[in-house]
Amino acid sequence: MTAVKEMSNWDVEKIRADFPVLSQTVNGKPLVYLDNAASSQVPQVVIDRGAKYLREEHSNIHRGVHYLSQHATTAYEAAREKVKRFINAKEAKECIFVRGTTEGINLVAYSYGRKFVGEGDEILISAMEHHANIIPWQVLAEEKGARIKVIPINERGELILEEYENLLNERTKIVAVAHVSNALGTVNPVKEMIATAHKFGVPVLIDAAQSVPHFPVDVQDLDADFLVFSGHKMYAPTGSGVLYGKKEWLDKMPPYQTGGGMIRTVTFEKTTYAGLPEKFEAGTPAIAAGIGLGAAIDYLNSIDFEAAARYEHELLEYATEKLSAIEGVKLIGTAREKASVLSFTIENVHPHDIGTILDQSGIAVRAGHHCAQPVMQFFDVPATARASFAFYNTREEVDKLAEAVHKVIEVFA
Ligand code: PMP
Repeated sequence: MTAVKEMSNWDVEKIRADFPVLSQTVNGKPLVYLDNAASSQVPQVVIDRGAKYLREEHSNIHRGVHYLSQHATTAYEAAREKVKRFINAKEAKECIFVRGTTEGINLVAYSYGRKFVGEGDEILISAMEHHANIIPWQVLAEEKGARIKVIPINERGELILEEYENLLNERTKIVAVAHVSNALGTVNPVKEMIATAHKFGVPVLIDAAQSVPHFPVDVQDLDADFLVFSGHKMYAPTGSGVLYGKKEWLDKMPPYQTGGGMIRTVTFEKTTYAGLPEKFEAGTPAIAAGIGLGAAIDYLNSIDFEAAARYEHELLEYATEKLSAIEGVKLIGTAREKASVLSFTIENVHPHDIGTILDQSGIAVRAGHHCAQPVMQFFDVPATARASFAFYNTREEVDKLAEAVHKVIEVFA
């Protein structure tokens, strides 16, 4: 790790002013918000857009001919166009609005899985997946008599890619893998992994919950078959999220949920379904949240997202340097390619105690298994403390984190 001397030219104070929540105090101390991997904060422009919808436009979409309904529909569909451009999908209808990453993966496991996975087939995931990218596949495998295969990781928390190649075969029906691990911060080489899977004719789902908020992601460049992410981790409200799927796959897949909004015709004998994206969007969606996601994308486009990504990476390197210099601190996840996440333990201190003491200093980190129990088992720890960064965090906040970690060690010495 090279020493970080100067941060890139990023006006972090100007950015912080966009996020009202950051200016408050917690336990009498200025809030240091380092739980961005769980949920990031929301800028004023996104809050304003949501409020405007509720104040002036609130109405059910798609089925109304009246002014408000048409207005709300236009705003919601404009958000879909923004998503399309943001991830460079070929068509907006390949972007299905869902509640978040969890729902997106469940949709694919249910719909693709029930059509294309059968007895004796294999589903390939990795040892660093979030539970949201394990359990839907387990349920499917149990139901179908299929098997889950797991790409192993090394001590740094990197995928062992030679093993990946060996695990792919003609029985593999899907690969589902995280772009960035929420527990370790590892950035996986998903473009190469997708190309390898495609040599075997196997489609790939990318869990992009921790990548889309942190650096530009281009679904066509990756050649991803499916890619899912959550709005609440990318400066938008909860309840918004996206499943991107290649049209060729989505067209072949049956609906996930059924009901209003996803049909062409209904009789008691038979129903025919609407085309994309409606086929996968039964019922009234989270309209305000979807419009909010569009506003968050506008915000990211307005701030030079690539510069933000560089700044965030430098912050991660600075924090890595600071924390690894503290005796008794052990970093969990030391991959050569990392983004945003710094997981650590302190000798003889339970991570929950770390979290509680840091909170007394106004510092918000997450302590727990991060919905990645297999990762904890691999590293033989019950849990970790996790600091996760966004482009509004500062070097001074990292210094405060390091000071508070010293304090934890003093308390437990
Ligand atoms: N996958 C990863 C890598 C995540 O970090 C998370 C959220 N912690 C999820 C899936 C689930 O996301 P959500 O709770 O928004 O559905």
